[in-house]
Amino acid sequence: LTQRLSKALKNLTGKGKINEEDLQATLREIRLALLEADVSYPTVKKFIDQIRQKAKGTEILDGLNGAQQVIKVVNDELTALMGDEAVPLNKPDKIPTKIMMAGLQGAGKTTTIAKLAYKLKKEENARPLLIAADIYRPAAIDQLEILGKDLGVPVFSMGTDVDPREIVKAGLAEAAANKNDYVLIDTAGRLQIDAELMAELKDVQEIAQPDEVLLTVDAMTGQNATETAQGFADELNLTGVVLTKLDGDTRGGAALSIRDVTGKPIKFVGQGEKPTDLDVFYPDRMASRILGMGDILTLIEKAQQDVDEKKQAEQLEKMRLNTFDFNDFIEQLHQVQNMGPMEDLIKMIPGMAGNPALANLSIDPKQFTHMEAIVSSMTKAEREDPDLINPSRRRRLAAGAGRPIVEVNKMIKQFDQMRKMMNQASNGNFSGMESMMGQ
Ligand code: GDP
Ligand code: MG
Repeated sequence: LTQRLSKALKNLTGKGKINEEDLQATLREIRLALLEADVSYPTVKKFIDQIRQKAKGTEILDGLNGAQQVIKVVNDELTALMGDEAVPLNKPDKIPTKIMMAGLQGAGKTTTIAKLAYKLKKEENARPLLIAADIYRPAAIDQLEILGKDLGVPVFSMGTDVDPREIVKAGLAEAAANKNDYVLIDTAGRLQIDAELMAELKDVQEIAQPDEVLLTVDAMTGQNATETAQGFADELNLTGVVLTKLDGDTRGGAALSIRDVTGKPIKFVGQGEKPTDLDVFYPDRMASRILGMGDILTLIEKAQQDVDEKKQAEQLEKMRLNTFDFNDFIEQLHQVQNMGPMEDLIKMIPGMAGNPALANLSIDPKQFTHMEAIVSSMTKAEREDPDLINPSRRRRLAAGAGRPIVEVNKMIKQFDQMRKMMNQASNGNFSGMESMMGQ
């Protein structure tokens, strides 16, 4: 994904302006990138349409800024789609807070229960009770009991011969008797959604009246994760989602489409097998992960550097060959203007700092604008061959730029000096600079 997006955004950097065509091409790349990150097709389509609207509404500026703006729009929209803020667990006023897990077999329900128990114990000094209501998966009860023992958290179980509905009822009674502040209900899964499983889960939901029904989804299942989420959302009153196995090499595009199809917040993400490997879900971080943002920002910086270095090398070569013309002059003015006050820049030139001639130097930034106006009035031929600019042409330029003729003369003189000086500088001699500054 990163590679794709990087490529798309690279197309935006190093170009003067982004036009409609560039934007379309970029959106096409972003679209492919999201699909590759396992975001579902309808979500991608919706998302791209939103970006197109937003990008159109935003003034898109030159080169690098344009790319950064597109990234910002993409990143903001991704974040918004996933819900902007982290959403905490629902907690009723009276104990216990009841949390029911749901999800396919192997999604990480049992592991997530252990992680939640660890977190609650550590952060709130909570006293949770775990209920083992998966009677189908071999050793599911053992698994929960071992985890509970390691964490010092009690596990309620009745073996595999009792109906899960009865286990949940008895478990809740036990929690009431022991005044547990949390009840975490582990449920069965299947390899695929089926009617029998759903009927059982609906009954458990009815009996327990949980404050949270957390759907656990394996992020590594890619496009299927969205379908699974949809299936569970249709049958149960989900309150949130836990996206597991994000420590794998998925970009987590599933987060985007799961949120989109269920409308339920992703509350936690699983980042490993240990009880400590559970994190609160932050939409902005997830957006960066899906986009590979860190990499992209680095790439943009680099692209910017490359462009500048290339331009500078070209200009140095021109100076050396003495073909420096008014187009380059303007280019230089622009680059210099972007760097900050002229006075500061000159002092950074090797050999210039501490030069007494520069102590009280001040340069009026308006001069740049006037120079630009004069250069804009030149024909293409005049810009490329400044020696063409005879007195009658100078009069024309002065009229065109709305500046006095003396100013045109002065600028052309400065240009000549600059050209000479640069020629010397490119051969390692800076003395010409001083005489120009003395003006
Ligand atoms: P359940 O069938 O939904 O209860 O799934 P389990 O909790 O038994 O998990 C299935 C497998 O996935 C186990 O081997 C877990 O260790 C593993 N697992 C669960 N969550 C994560 C996670 O966030 N990262 C990784 N790497 N493995 C996980
Ligand atoms: Mg399990």
